[in-house]
Amino acid sequence: MNSLVRRVTAACLLGAAVAACGGHGTTAPAQRPERRATAAGPAPSLAPGPTGLAPVFAHGPRREKAVALTFDADMTAGQGARAAAGERFDNPRLVATLRRLKVASTVFMTGRWAEEYPEQARAIGRDPLFEVANHSYSHYAFTADCHGLPTVPGRRMRSEVERAFAAFRAAGVEHAMPYFRFPGGCYDRRALRRLGTAGVTAVQWDVVSGDAFAKDADAVAQQVLDGVRPGSVVVMHCTRSAAPATERAVRTVVPELRERGYRFVKVSELIGAADRDRRDRRGRHTAS
Ligand SMILES: [Zn+2]
Repeated sequence: MNSLVRRVTAACLLGAAVAACGGHGTTAPAQRPERRATAAGPAPSLAPGPTGLAPVFAHGPRREKAVALTFDADMTAGQGARAAAGERFDNPRLVATLRRLKVASTVFMTGRWAEEYPEQARAIGRDPLFEVANHSYSHYAFTADCHGLPTVPGRRMRSEVERAFAAFRAAGVEHAMPYFRFPGGCYDRRALRRLGTAGVTAVQWDVVSGDAFAKDADAVAQQVLDGVRPGSVVVMHCTRSAAPATERAVRTVVPELRERGYRFVKVSELIGAADRDRRDRRGRHTAS
């Protein structure tokens, strides 16, 4: 198996296992979209694509050694019983390590996770080291055939996003970012059109850590270290049961990347830099 196939397979595993849990989604109340802002002002975002499609962001400018570690806090609408039986979808040790090492990072949280762990959601949301972004309410896929995940019907896509933001607010997360990560990373034009009305930027990645169900922390760390380039966005998980090696991998990755001259930033910083570059390019075109 070549390395690309291996990486994609690793990324799919979590989706497949989550799907295996099944469960019933609940209908989401429709809510008014609202402008989201950080305490410091409006969140950096990209201009919408043609015909109102949500913009898609995968990595920042390649000119500076900045890297964004992102952590998906997965939990599906059907996993409440497993959590009640003692399965841990959170990872407090990972969060503590990120704090101890002072690693700015972005947590893509499902609404269901925020409901299950409201105190942790609030603590992450209030810590300036972190930013909270949206990973849907129920972790259902936005396209058919996405690693076996149950599929959200088109008419409910926007409410999946809004219901997650509502769950964050209910948990006490006041400044969630207007960024959305598709469950399983699956999207198409129809999904981007639906999200365009929700006012979010879709955030993908250019480095797959392969941490889903990995037991070998060194292999995860090596895959990240091999993949990171200036401006990279790395996808990892903040879900102990499904990604048990992540915290150990982070302890290897962080000092090594710092040694190589990288600094850790939140996704918002990379999006802001990409947006400034785009406007500069447009300015030069207009000037010439
Ligand atoms: Zn996920």
